[in-house]
Amino acid sequence: MADIIQLLPDHVANQIAAGEVVQRPASVVKELLENAVDAGASTIKLIVKDGGKTLIQVVDDGTGMSPTDARLSFERHATSKIKSAEDLFKLNTKGFRGEALASIAAIAHVDMLTRPSDDDLGTHLKIEGSHVVFQEVVVTPKGTSIAVKNLFYNIPARRNFLKSNKVEFRHITDEFHRVALAHPGITFHFHHNESELFHLPSTSHKKRIVHVFGSKTSEKLVPVQEQTKVVSITGFINKPEFAKKSRGEQFFFVNNRFIKSPYLNHAILAAFEGLIKPDVHPGYFLYLQVDPTSIDINIHPTKTEIKFDDEHTLYAILRSTIKHSLGQFHLAPMLDFEKDQNLETPYSYQHKGATHPGITINPGFNPFKEPLSRHHAGPGSPQRSAKGWENLYVGLESKVGQEDAFSSVQFESESITGSIFSDLDEREEHGATTFQLRRKYIVTTIKSGMLIIDQNRAHQRVLYEKFLRCMTVKETLSQQLLFPLVLSFSKGDIKIVQQMEENLRTLGFVFGSIKEEQIEVTGLPPLVPESEVGIVLDQLIADWDLEVSANDFSQSDMLSKTIGKTLAVKTGEVLDPASQTALVNDLFACKETMLSPFNKPIYITLTENDIDKKFI
Ligand code: ADP
Ligand code: MG
Repeated sequence: MADIIQLLPDHVANQIAAGEVVQRPASVVKELLENAVDAGASTIKLIVKDGGKTLIQVVDDGTGMSPTDARLSFERHATSKIKSAEDLFKLNTKGFRGEALASIAAIAHVDMLTRPSDDDLGTHLKIEGSHVVFQEVVVTPKGTSIAVKNLFYNIPARRNFLKSNKVEFRHITDEFHRVALAHPGITFHFHHNESELFHLPSTSHKKRIVHVFGSKTSEKLVPVQEQTKVVSITGFINKPEFAKKSRGEQFFFVNNRFIKSPYLNHAILAAFEGLIKPDVHPGYFLYLQVDPTSIDINIHPTKTEIKFDDEHTLYAILRSTIKHSLGQFHLAPMLDFEKDQNLETPYSYQHKGATHPGITINPGFNPFKEPLSRHHAGPGSPQRSAKGWENLYVGLESKVGQEDAFSSVQFESESITGSIFSDLDEREEHGATTFQLRRKYIVTTIKSGMLIIDQNRAHQRVLYEKFLRCMTVKETLSQQLLFPLVLSFSKGDIKIVQQMEENLRTLGFVFGSIKEEQIEVTGLPPLVPESEVGIVLDQLIADWDLEVSANDFSQSDMLSKTIGKTLAVKTGEVLDPASQTALVNDLFACKETMLSPFNKPIYITLTENDIDKKFI
């Protein structure tokens, strides 16, 4: 047979990559703004026409590029920001993939003007659909200006998929807010269709928030400040009485990068519990600084998600920090807010009467069947509990409290020792050969040596396959709730849930009603604990936006991935030996065992040979 494999031409590869990087005009805005920030600009100007469909231009006064760099910047995997894979663990730039400009140039008309400050003349480069039209020498101010015109001009399907100018413009504004809030030291201008929408001078975090959201914002803000070994938190939360029906003003920045995290969002909701009605959302602007080696930004192509080494501890710290700030705010004498009944009797208690017994019955429960369960974790270990987030916090707090100031080092070594000892006992009794390393990996022996399994990824794979199977063979199992759960969402979010409704039902969700802004859940898939329904739905709604194709398979796939990701045991969770073994067995019962649903390796093997080599 003749050879049939060939390498894709660059412009085709770039177009494919563009599908990941550029979903809509707002993605271009994000990439260009981030490049300007990375270039050390002190002033950045954003100019947009027709919701970004006609023009997106970003002008900065940063480092600029030499003629050669200007040309290279449009090559795929061309970046000045990392040199080796190790650099990924000490990132302090926004970009690092070297894909954005190449992707954008593959699907639009691009004009770049750029000049480094110590050159007299600059470069003008014009590229259309990856083809360089010309590159010439020009007189241009120091810095870089990139204009992106006619986005998706050569992919009509994508262009037609774009929403109205108004909707696209709203997405652009969201991106602009995120970058502007993350970098108050930089001056920003934002023009849309010839009118200036924002002129934000260089200032403090607080003033930047006020400039972006209006002068009334100032009185709403309560400062937040906490410094621990694991994380430093600064920023502001909105006072409880300003909580809103929509989630507009919720911002997490980690090392100056905007991220989405339904899990950490939940920590904040937990801190506000009893202070706000259950159907409103508190506003927050939180800036977290963590050691860059403790996060993995690579998890998502558009980088709004990151993976923390220890989300559990972060959850507890965040919740208690916010509680503390709220407490201080109540004590502050100059703030006389109206006496509100709701604050006298916390909401959660007002409604306690109706839901008092609070027991759910699982008709499928079989005490002799050993599920993979976090409820097996030893006493005092940070575990999620079906009884609710309250318990998670209590468990963590006492642990953390004992150890003074969240000392993660002690925390780690203690649990390792614990695991090794209990593992040794186990081994004598049952021949089990797994143990947990740094609350992150399950180590297990095989004939030829050992496997080191990433617990989070392994569990993602197990759950992903379970959910996917459940949807494809439509063998719905559901666990009836004794008391329906009522959750509040914005109208937009409800629409998204409605589109997923059928697949969610196949999974075992039972909805009493889905109304204007409320969803009543009366039954759940057995694998989804009641306490995590809110997070699961939040995460599904957040991921929905990213999913371009709406065909049934990709929807089932997306749902399974998202729910799997949300419910999987996290890095930082202690698993007792029985759960470790169950996880390993479940993993190796999967169809695919090597890669997580997000295509990350699940385990590595160390053979005896590999080990022997180390002893030479
Ligand atoms: P990344 O940001 O991941 O490195 P990009 O494709 O966004 O990849 O950019 C490629 C390279 O082009 C960057 O690494 C940087 O060296 C250069 N570059 C892009 N935009 C600018 C800018 N506004 N000012 C200076 N250099 C830039
Ligand atoms: Mg970039």
